[in-house]
Amino acid sequence: QKPPVRVAITGAAGQIGYSLIFRVASGEMLGPDQPVILHLIDLPFAMAALNGVVMEIQDCAFPLVQGIVATDNQAVGFKDVNYALLVGAKPRGPGMERGDLLKENGKIFTETGKFINDNASRDIKVVVVGNPCNTNCLILANQIKDIPKENFTAMTRLDHNRAQYQLADKLGVHTSDIRKIAIFGNHSPTMVPYIDQMTAKNHKATVDQQWVTQTFIPTVQQRGAEIIKARKLSSAASAGNAAMNHITTWVNGTVEGDYTSMAIPSDGSYGVPKGLIFSFPVTVKNGKYSVVQGLPISPFYQGLLDKTIKELVDERNAIDHLLK
Ligand code: NDP
Repeated sequence: QKPPVRVAITGAAGQIGYSLIFRVASGEMLGPDQPVILHLIDLPFAMAALNGVVMEIQDCAFPLVQGIVATDNQAVGFKDVNYALLVGAKPRGPGMERGDLLKENGKIFTETGKFINDNASRDIKVVVVGNPCNTNCLILANQIKDIPKENFTAMTRLDHNRAQYQLADKLGVHTSDIRKIAIFGNHSPTMVPYIDQMTAKNHKATVDQQWVTQTFIPTVQQRGAEIIKARKLSSAASAGNAAMNHITTWVNGTVEGDYTSMAIPSDGSYGVPKGLIFSFPVTVKNGKYSVVQGLPISPFYQGLLDKTIKELVDERNAIDHLLK
């Protein structure tokens, strides 16, 4: 049997945590032959609720779970961790501006960055889910001194999955038939679902531009709000699913001839300022991702890219003091 790996989840007593933890424990994220030690991290006030989650994990008698660390102490929580799914974040309160949200979360992710740097395994792979996830990841990675920067990423896979479903539905095929689409940019309403190279059942597929601008892009952008309206609760299950997909693809790789979307430190590709945490189309092989180069960018897409770049630059400027 393989030796166990340590998987940390912050915000473990929250909604996304509740949908995510049990699937990670069952082996869905890292495979049915990979034992795991779960590191469940949350704030002090959430420890009683987290204890309830721990009891439920115990009562599932998961064959792959070799241990559970449930804690509000991040030094313990991140000790020797190999994978971290950073879900915990301060939600936007009534009347709160994006700038306030950035500041509040800036404190959380600065602190978490220090604990990861000082305690985690040097091969740790991190995905930030808590919003605003791109800039939270930037703040976090800035605290890291001796782990490669490319190990710090943020999640746009839910946007990718949402786009894939809308396109499959429109074209009358299965989601798995849709390939070569990607999300560029920020995980926010400025995100750019790029579909100019799309294939369906391995053939080039096109949809009309009016549907793209008037239906497709707004539907993908507003899907979260639509689910809240319908369920009176946020889209926690699909967010947890996408976080798992992100790590699974990072570990196992992308399918030959396809790519996925990950928000990663920009290397300057597509004119995106270096260092921004920006979602790109990526292929993954042997645990390493690379940006898909040379995709044609039409004036329509360039206009959208400029907007999402500007938003991320503005977010970075708003928390510039935290990067010093
Ligand atoms: P959720 O588990 O529903 O959401 C957590 C974060 O994920 C939020 O920032 C949320 O952003 C984000 N998110 C990303 N994609 C989605 C999506 N599609 N749908 C919904 N959310 C999405 O929040 P809860 O309030 O239930 O739980 C948060 C937990 O985090 C609490 O238990 C709290 O104590 C904890 N926490 C832990 C910290 C730590 O461990 N260091 C720090 C701060 C909080 P958005 O706000 O935009 O919905």
